Amino acid sequence: MTECDKGIKMAKRDYYEVLGVEKSADQDAIKKAYRKLAVKYHPDRNPGDKEAEEKFKEATEAYEILSDEEKRPIYDQYGFAGLEGMGGGGAGGAQYSHAFHDFSDLFGGAGGGFSDIFESIFGGGFGGGGSRGGSRRSGPAAGSSLRYDLHIQFKDAVYGTSADIHFKHNEACSACHGTGGAAGSSKKTCPTCNGMGQVRQGNGFFTIQQTCPTCRGKGVTIDKPCPSCRGTGITEKSKMMSLKIPAGSDNGKRIVIPGQGDAGENGGPAGDLVVVLHVDSHPLFERDGQDLYCAVPVSMAQAALGADITINSLDGKKVTIKIPSGTTNGKLLRIKGEGVPMSGSSRKGDLYVKLMVQIPQRLSGKQKELLQAYMELENPPSNPDLMPLSKLESV
Ligand SMILES: [Zn+2]
Ligand SMILES: [Zn+2]
Repeated sequence: MTECDKGIKMAKRDYYEVLGVEKSADQDAIKKAYRKLAVKYHPDRNPGDKEAEEKFKEATEAYEILSDEEKRPIYDQYGFAGLEGMGGGGAGGAQYSHAFHDFSDLFGGAGGGFSDIFESIFGGGFGGGGSRGGSRRSGPAAGSSLRYDLHIQFKDAVYGTSADIHFKHNEACSACHGTGGAAGSSKKTCPTCNGMGQVRQGNGFFTIQQTCPTCRGKGVTIDKPCPSCRGTGITEKSKMMSLKIPAGSDNGKRIVIPGQGDAGENGGPAGDLVVVLHVDSHPLFERDGQDLYCAVPVSMAQAALGADITINSLDGKKVTIKIPSGTTNGKLLRIKGEGVPMSGSSRKGDLYVKLMVQIPQRLSGKQKELLQAYMELENPPSNPDLMPLSKLESV
């Protein structure tokens, strides 16, 4: 290490001074001191405050060393220089300072018991945007996203449609603009939880936290609650929206309508309305992704001789199909571009038509006569050879 490096390191504040504890402080006192500082300077509570962030880092580093049975005595005897030699890393102080370089490291549990400590300080939801349950005092909380199950016809899913959806969601109360207070009311820090929104039970460092029953986690109480919403700041509203279902939608598709879920609290964003499509089955058509399937009967003579037939596609369009001569039962014909439109594209899937060769069940005298003549011409063997099962056309 160079003298210059040493000079910089020595300029750091003493860890005991940072935490504001005596050199003789026990582990309990060190934890308590750190907890106090962590709550005060935590970046979540001081957004954009560089100084607070530095103080938080400094306190965290001090705590990591002074709570370590191995490192604390070395620090006591040799100061910062002693810690730099630890672990033989040769990278100076990196081995203990790198863990605090990035908060995400710290929050990810890189510091061992740190995540437990933060759980007990902030009651979970750590680092996130806060939850609807109000795990943090009066901070913004995002509203819940709502699910809406919409049943639509098979054809409407394929070609697109619009549907009116009726739903209820929570909105900010219009009488109090979401504040929860009647005109002329004032907000006070909740006396039960001192504005924390949480009450702790138990003693020592690790405690159980609960949402404050007086303020329901908001950290404030209102002397004159809004009569419309009874102080909650939110009201349930019925809504109707016209929703566009794009062509090519399939069963299970989710359509997200941003901001149409429940209103957020304390300035938090509203949740989304998530519409989940349930597509009814069709009596004649089936679907596999972009392709449609249907079956059509063809006569024995049409199958043998070949023919042009016209069918109604799913959208009622007439589609002419060429049946080749010698068609076997179950043959699948592909009709290009008559399938399901692809969302956001002019491309379409295909229509597969399965040809079902019909053997006449009842014959007129004339038909019988002609078939008899045909059979005499054909002269099929009365003792045919067997054929492998695999030669059978799949149906
Ligand atoms: Zn209100
Ligand atoms: Zn409270």
